[in-house]
Amino acid sequence: AREVKSDIEIAQACKMMKISELIEELNIHENDWEPYGHYKGKLSLDLLEKHQNTPDGKVILVTAINPTPAGEGKSTITVGLGQALNKIGKKAVIALREPSLGPTMGIKGGAAGGGYSQVVPMEDINLHFTGDLHAITTAHNALAAMVDNHIHRGNELDLDVRRITWKRVLDINDRSLRHINIGLGGPLHGIPRESGFDITVASEIMAILCLASDLNDLKKRFARIVIGYSSNQKPVTVKDLEAEGALTLLMKDALKPNLVQTLENTPALIHGGPFANIAHGCNSVMATKLASKLGDYVVTEAGFGADLGAEKFLNIKMRAGNIQPSLVVIVATIRALKMHGGVPKDQLKNPDTEAMKKGLGNLEKHVESIRAFGLPHVVAINRFVHDSEEEIETLRHWCGEKGIEVELANVWEEGGAGGTALAEKVVHEIEHRKNQFKPLYELEDSLLSKVNTIAKTVYGADGAVLSKEAQKQLKDIQTNGWEHLPVCMAKTQNSLSDDPTRIGRPENFQITIRELKPSIGAGFIVALTGSIMTMPGLPKRPAAVDMDVDEEGKATGLF
Ligand code: ADP
Repeated sequence: AREVKSDIEIAQACKMMKISELIEELNIHENDWEPYGHYKGKLSLDLLEKHQNTPDGKVILVTAINPTPAGEGKSTITVGLGQALNKIGKKAVIALREPSLGPTMGIKGGAAGGGYSQVVPMEDINLHFTGDLHAITTAHNALAAMVDNHIHRGNELDLDVRRITWKRVLDINDRSLRHINIGLGGPLHGIPRESGFDITVASEIMAILCLASDLNDLKKRFARIVIGYSSNQKPVTVKDLEAEGALTLLMKDALKPNLVQTLENTPALIHGGPFANIAHGCNSVMATKLASKLGDYVVTEAGFGADLGAEKFLNIKMRAGNIQPSLVVIVATIRALKMHGGVPKDQLKNPDTEAMKKGLGNLEKHVESIRAFGLPHVVAINRFVHDSEEEIETLRHWCGEKGIEVELANVWEEGGAGGTALAEKVVHEIEHRKNQFKPLYELEDSLLSKVNTIAKTVYGADGAVLSKEAQKQLKDIQTNGWEHLPVCMAKTQNSLSDDPTRIGRPENFQITIRELKPSIGAGFIVALTGSIMTMPGLPKRPAAVDMDVDEEGKATGLF
């Protein structure tokens, strides 16, 4: 067997183009971008406006079946497909999320694709990149400081200290910060109250960054953020605190999409990365739109499986950005199908065609959901070295019988060359298949009806029920005039249901909405099922333990 190189070894061996060369290739004028070192750049906010009359490229969304904890390779396929499209002579630009340091230091070790389908400079992208996440952390905490200062200085807005919903954030997995007491130490040190930390990517500021269409829209959205409630239960906003200007100022550079490249020099915009449960889990609208102006094809992804990421991409992001999707790629792996067929996680490498067949219901449900949106789709089998020919052939055959377009992708091992068949199929489907895209619900539908539509059509549930608490919150949402907003479902990624142990294609179940949380700046109502962790903890052996840097500054341990 040939030597298998690690992701970071492959990335470090790559010959990158200078960012200025990439800019030249994309025909971007020198006034419309700024270099951030040799291999990263930020594109100017005016660039979109300048391209007003440029026709939009085709937007291809990469999503997946319900994943194993290791991830099924959405980012890898996104990068690989972008490279492959260029290999077959198309002009493709990739749009991806920015990795968060929490999971990088925790279990994931990074998130910039894998094997020969990665974005580079991998170390920068996984660590501090261009500082966007630091800007979000700072803006978020500046607002938190203004809230506590307001209370300390006499609390003119009559904020109820027990009903402040704006917490603090940090881009690190740190469970001990989940619940904290602040303002301790006596009268000079603020008003004591309970609070806590979320991870930065869970900040509403991140969700807003990713949905805003320009600086003005960013400011308007910031102004609408609800930071808590007054003692007579009225929402108190950022506008009441007069903080929207400062927040926008802190975020003005972070709003500019970041340009980098793949291992094969395909341009990639990496910008924004909100949680895929309590937020919508897609890179910024700005990046996707710009990519669609710079390329004839945009390949982009949405977090977790199609039940979460793709649903929100198609119901929330497309609406906010007025973007028309062209096709959905559904990533399936033999190992995840075996998991859905009941194989324990430590035995997923062993060939087991029968178990894989049992797990196919999961893939079938996701295909049905994408069909419900009226979109052309292709299943991409992300090939792993342990997959047997029999398993792969059985999966292909099953897709054929069901009339589902399918293609094998070996982009992890071969880069773009391993994805040309997939690229050809994607282009063919876009050109020949009818696109009848329509979001699943109307904004005017009641909140309960929206939740029910998603639960029934996308999860295969019998319906959704609201807890007592959620029923009360629904009344408040109606009183405050927020019912017309889209719904952002927060659900486990492990199952189509709200119970992470129910694998495959669960049937005969209800979804329970435990809590309804308004994200008014972002412009959606979060519907929480089960308990969703907004500040992860580190595992027993964090990825950080294996990270290092040598005397020359060369990094190891990112993957
Ligand atoms: P997702 O975006 O779905 O979370 P990623 O693309 O980040 O998944 O992949 C998760 C991990 O799996 C990465 O470490 C990546 O290198 C690895 N990986 C992806 N595809 C393959 C493959 N075909 N063979 C081996 N490893 C893979």
